[in-house]
Amino acid sequence: MQTIWVVTTGGVLSGIGKGVASAAIARLLKGNKKIVTMKCDGYLNVDPGTMNPVEHGEVFVLHDGGEVDMDFGHYERFLDVNCKFEWNLTSGKIFDSVITKERKGVYLGKTIQIFPHIVDEIKSKIYDIAKKEFADIMFIEIGGTVGDIENSWFIEAVRQLRNEVGNDKIVYIHLTYIPYLETVTELKTKPAQRDIALLREKGIYPDIVIARSKFELTPKIKEKLALFGDIDAESIITGKDVDSVYEVPLFFRDQNIVQLLNRKLHMKHKEELVRWEELVNTIKHPEHRIKVAICGKYTELHDSYASVIEALKHAGAHLNTGVDIVWLETTDIEKNKVSVKEALKNVNGVIIPGGFGSRGVEGKIQVIQHLRENNIPFLGLCYGLQLAVIEFARHVCNLTEANTTEVKKTKVPVIDILPEQKNVDKLGGTMRLGAYEAVLLKGSVVQQLYNAEKAVERHRHRYEVNPEYHQILQEKGMVFSGMSADKRLVEFIELPNHPYFVATQAHNELTSRLEKPNPLFYGFVKAALKK
Ligand code: GLN
Repeated sequence: MQTIWVVTTGGVLSGIGKGVASAAIARLLKGNKKIVTMKCDGYLNVDPGTMNPVEHGEVFVLHDGGEVDMDFGHYERFLDVNCKFEWNLTSGKIFDSVITKERKGVYLGKTIQIFPHIVDEIKSKIYDIAKKEFADIMFIEIGGTVGDIENSWFIEAVRQLRNEVGNDKIVYIHLTYIPYLETVTELKTKPAQRDIALLREKGIYPDIVIARSKFELTPKIKEKLALFGDIDAESIITGKDVDSVYEVPLFFRDQNIVQLLNRKLHMKHKEELVRWEELVNTIKHPEHRIKVAICGKYTELHDSYASVIEALKHAGAHLNTGVDIVWLETTDIEKNKVSVKEALKNVNGVIIPGGFGSRGVEGKIQVIQHLRENNIPFLGLCYGLQLAVIEFARHVCNLTEANTTEVKKTKVPVIDILPEQKNVDKLGGTMRLGAYEAVLLKGSVVQQLYNAEKAVERHRHRYEVNPEYHQILQEKGMVFSGMSADKRLVEFIELPNHPYFVATQAHNELTSRLEKPNPLFYGFVKAALKK
């Protein structure tokens, strides 16, 4: 099969769900095809690893250790594939490789310019990946909106694709936004008209327009948009606000998007979403409900914990349980604004997710102590494991000054910097990143949940449980339920005689998928349900 290309662009404003829309369409077309999902981000950072998650959302970590845009989380959760670092193009990466080539003399004699050199570099990376991956379908999502200067080279590159791959092998999907104006109780198409016009000015004529809006578009609105956007009214799809992102493929399917794609691309694809639909129905109408608290520093922006939230939903869907999330800002506990007991009243379980630095750490340690002593289910992720070890060292092993050297220089560094991190002088892409294997302790809770001898999970950290304290922690009853193959690194811990006290040095949320929830989240939700 010759590769098929699906390009998605966005307009009016960013953050209207282009990633979810692309992932949903990819899911509809998946079947047994090899799908590659690429994302082009205009920023000059090489990758989002050094960005503040409050500003940019979660940094998603791939199996290969790449730190990428959070849209890759949607792709992986919808498609159940492992994406690759090189599938995320950024202006930073592209400029870096062009300038490196220029210094080497690759373009000797030439004046290096955005057009053609940057654009050619983008295309050559895209073609290389399509070839290397034997892709049946290449999805290319352009971040931001059509008018952004820093996206212009990506837009030009995908425009040029049409002539090179053939008009019947490529489809352009544009996601736009139709605001609802309360004062006149009307959906307004003008901003969408403007950005479709802008896209056309840049040489891209969308085949399908997905209009995000609060309400379903009426035929009248569709006709208006069709007229001004120069597109068939039936090629306009509503992207209505839905409760769960997993509804989006079903919603698109019901508007015949697959037939539209089949017609344009001369395909005969039939989607199969039977199991998917069952799970979505459970998410929408679960038999049970639990309340889970997530403690953290970035509680002001839930996007920074996107994968944790999704992983809870996945586990919930398989246990017929709806998960209501409450956010707990642990600095409030430190400042005595609220007591731990009060904060955790009516909560069935608590997650301490990944994090960096000292803010809110003492509050989290207080929370962990309360969970341990009161038999409340606990799941610690990365920093969550490290803080659980500190709490245990302080209150069970009597090492009152136990701490992490990330926060404080201490005589009792139960959590310390990884030896290989000591001489790291660059901050970008230098943490212990990506998938590593752990050997699981036979009979432990973790081992039983995985139902395997080994577990492979993704990492993103610089600190570890200090090997000098392994012995005392274990003597006092902490179970190391998973160790790195060289037995040096503690990858999973648990406490016996507790309904669920489990933590991982990894980020287990990153490998959870709707159709395959991560074992530790499954175990956690199950335990929380019993509480
Ligand atoms: N700050 C801790 C470390 O670097 C934990 C990191 C994390 O939670 N991702 O090891």
